[in-house]
Amino acid sequence: MDDYRIDIPDRFYSDAEGKPFEYCQMCGKFLLSEGTSYVVEKAIKNYKGYDFGSTIFEFAVCLDCHTQVQKGMSEESLANLHRYYQQIMAEKSHQPIVIDIRNFNLDEWLSKCFFKGDEIGEMNEYQIVAQFNGNKMLMNMPPMIIGEKAMEEMAELLSDKTIDEMNGFREKFLGPSPEIEELIHGKKLILI
Ligand SMILES: [Zn+2]
Repeated sequence: MDDYRIDIPDRFYSDAEGKPFEYCQMCGKFLLSEGTSYVVEKAIKNYKGYDFGSTIFEFAVCLDCHTQVQKGMSEESLANLHRYYQQIMAEKSHQPIVIDIRNFNLDEWLSKCFFKGDEIGEMNEYQIVAQFNGNKMLMNMPPMIIGEKAMEEMAELLSDKTIDEMNGFREKFLGPSPEIEELIHGKKLILI
């Protein structure tokens, strides 16, 4: 599976730094050495009809910390999210996801919600998520867009306990901002 790795695309750079994330937001571990697995997640506010958006929040967390965060989710929430994912994958199964790494067009792949297929140009906000190892992005778990419809559907599957945990995570590690407050109160917090 080692071949399914590509250089980190700009879209997954830290907007604040203008370069790849270097440290885990939670434990401070250096991320760019080979063998270090981590996840990058960003939430982007879109301006309908325009070709740009602004990043509301962004973070990188190492796999260990990511696992810790997931442990904070209730079993019910995790099971619900898992079922949601399985259901979408079952619906998609008549057209299997094939990524030809040599001709892969990341911008095209990341122009639609992974779950619902709607275009990001038509959304108010969306999240992008991908997995990395050192200075490479992993393609065997392809990067994905979570569009606002999918975010809403997933948020409904989460227990209050899980939402509290996620809010706690955001407040602790991302700091409050008016935009994040808006997301929190909208309960649209998805951590894949
Ligand atoms: Zn960490």
